[in-house]
Amino acid sequence: MVPLPEPFDYAVPEEMHVEPGMVVKAPLGPIERTGVVWTIGEEEEGKRDLKPIYMVYPSPPLTDAMRTFIEWSAKYTCVNPGSILRMVLRSPQALFPTKTQSVVLPNDGAELPSRLTSARQRVLDFVKHHPPMTQAELGREVGVSTSVVKGLVDLGALSTEERPVDLPYRRPDPDRTGFTLTEEQESAAGHLRRRVREAAFSVALIDGVTGSGKTEVYFEAIAEALRMDPDAQVLILLPEIALTQAIMKRFEDRFGARPTEWHSGLSDADRRRAWREVANGRARIVVGARSALFLPFPNLRLAIVDEEHDGSYKQEDGVVYHARNLCIARARFEKFAVILASATPALETLHNARVGRFDYLQLTARPGAARLPDVGLIDLRESTPDKGDWLSPTLTQALAETLASGEQSLLFLNRRGYAPLVICKACGDKLKSPGTESWLTEHRYTGRLVCHLTGYSMRRPDRCPKCGARDSLMGVGPGIERVAEEVRRKLPEAGIELLSSDTIQSGEELRALIGRMEQGEIDILIGTQMIAKGHNFPGLTLVGVVDADASLKGGDLRAGERTFQLLSQVAGRAGRAEKPGRALLQTYDPDAPLMQALAATDRDTFLACEEGMREVMGMPPFGRLAAMILSFPNDQEAASLAKQIGMSAPNAEGVEVWGPAPAPISVLRGRYRWRFLVRSELTVDLSAYMSAWKAELKLPAQARLQVDVDPYSFL
Ligand code: ADP
Repeated sequence: MVPLPEPFDYAVPEEMHVEPGMVVKAPLGPIERTGVVWTIGEEEEGKRDLKPIYMVYPSPPLTDAMRTFIEWSAKYTCVNPGSILRMVLRSPQALFPTKTQSVVLPNDGAELPSRLTSARQRVLDFVKHHPPMTQAELGREVGVSTSVVKGLVDLGALSTEERPVDLPYRRPDPDRTGFTLTEEQESAAGHLRRRVREAAFSVALIDGVTGSGKTEVYFEAIAEALRMDPDAQVLILLPEIALTQAIMKRFEDRFGARPTEWHSGLSDADRRRAWREVANGRARIVVGARSALFLPFPNLRLAIVDEEHDGSYKQEDGVVYHARNLCIARARFEKFAVILASATPALETLHNARVGRFDYLQLTARPGAARLPDVGLIDLRESTPDKGDWLSPTLTQALAETLASGEQSLLFLNRRGYAPLVICKACGDKLKSPGTESWLTEHRYTGRLVCHLTGYSMRRPDRCPKCGARDSLMGVGPGIERVAEEVRRKLPEAGIELLSSDTIQSGEELRALIGRMEQGEIDILIGTQMIAKGHNFPGLTLVGVVDADASLKGGDLRAGERTFQLLSQVAGRAGRAEKPGRALLQTYDPDAPLMQALAATDRDTFLACEEGMREVMGMPPFGRLAAMILSFPNDQEAASLAKQIGMSAPNAEGVEVWGPAPAPISVLRGRYRWRFLVRSELTVDLSAYMSAWKAELKLPAQARLQVDVDPYSFL
């Protein structure tokens, strides 16, 4: 596929049936390409010779609503519709039907063979009570050679049939019973069932503390959608990291069938199967990461965005989009209900719920015995860690007590590696990634220095690369590897594991580690923000936050909000089952409003404060924000191009353009980066403004320009 800005015209050969939305193959220049029929026009007399469409793929056409959604998303994110379509048609092989294979079935009417050996008898018995399978599979299952099976087929005692290799997924059953809901849960569930029955666009926020049963409540909405229409399709978006076997199992237990998975860890074959089953309307419950939003559901009736505040819903590469926001847009075109769920909703979402744009459902209590953890602040000025250590005596003692009572702890530090900064004791140089301003992190585990921004890495040198002094390099500050070293020294008998994107390379490994934690095989889990996501660890009763101050220093629009979300989520890990939990936060600034709000678990006071600030500044949700980022390989020219771009910014009422300013990461992979921030009133179509601006610009080929509507990352 080529991401074209607009559709091209083609001729339809006489014998071919073509409808809008069909996926076709057609020539583009000298090459055959895959595309989608957008509209069908009348034949115009004497019009230039159009090239013909070559073939129509045997795949269901994209619905009108889906095509409207694609057009709208392209406009909103300031890209060509072709760029969105490319995400929709990501599995070209899935456009063909699944292959078939020959399977063995009982042949009831047939006479039994005269020589019935015991091997033959075993095969005949087995086939009667098991689903059809190939001859080889059957032989393996029964423990006889394939020739025994083949012999029975040749004699006519068994029959065969061609069946698709990828069988349809099992149908979910909405009527299996879940838990008896509490009054509060039932009232939320009742509301959502009504919304689903309306079969119209609506958005509801379930705002409920961790463990309050948000998942159980939205299960009720899913069940209702399937009861109304057994062919209804339901999409559940989860942050990639939360797509664990445990959550799949929960769906399976509730609906009696495994949901369809969609995430980056799928094999090509599984991805094809999932895409095809979704497109054909046979995948009913789909649980996926953000890109599942672009799957071609013909009959989507309900979508759920779980952990809706999560930063990973924002895609930063290629098409820059926010899956929650686009999901709401899709619901508007396809007229279905959306449920957002979170224990710490985004400020924008909460605002929309408060002003009545979204339905607001609150769950305040944890069912049964589970209680919210007590959150305590450890003042590092009073309980000071020993020299070279990072854990205060108070936190160390809490870890020891938890271990002694056979319970689990989790230590959170949002810094990968061993030390976030490497400095030369001789010349004072801070080691940076070449061509950037970004520091190198020391990783002891691999013996390397790594840049987390560019991926650059080098073996840890013996000498300072700048002054050449020997053995002068020193790691400064804590990373999780260093904290693990300290815990091992202080509590040698504890079973410790690390969780960060360096220690865990695949979804498989992650799922295995989460499994070990769930089973209680790990005493102390030490991790980065990867551990903050919705896992349920029954034996976990202590959460320690090593550096609660660190994440506040980000300095962008959402730094405070994000820190609060992260910390309260980490704290919410503790005490999910019967045992009470506690969370201890190490800080040098216990009087800061953020820390006080955390200790009081007073989210609303904290958010009200942040909201007031945003209102004064006209920032989202009280205004719109977009960014334009230029990058260019040459320093001087980048600066002058940025100036030129700034001068061609169109004048428009209610729009302010700030910049050009060097982007916070001003040099990245040898490219110099400048940034504009654009703020507008809510009444302005800021995407249209950004596209108009971009369209006017004539830039050299090496220049790259990216528009980010509603930016999250300010790098
Ligand atoms: P959340 O999604 O809000 O974090 P969950 O739906 O995962 O909460 O519920 C947390 C735990 O409490 C789960 O183990 C769930 O099965 C259990 N639970 C939720 N509601 C009930 C209920 N009404 N009765 C018994 N257990 C419940």
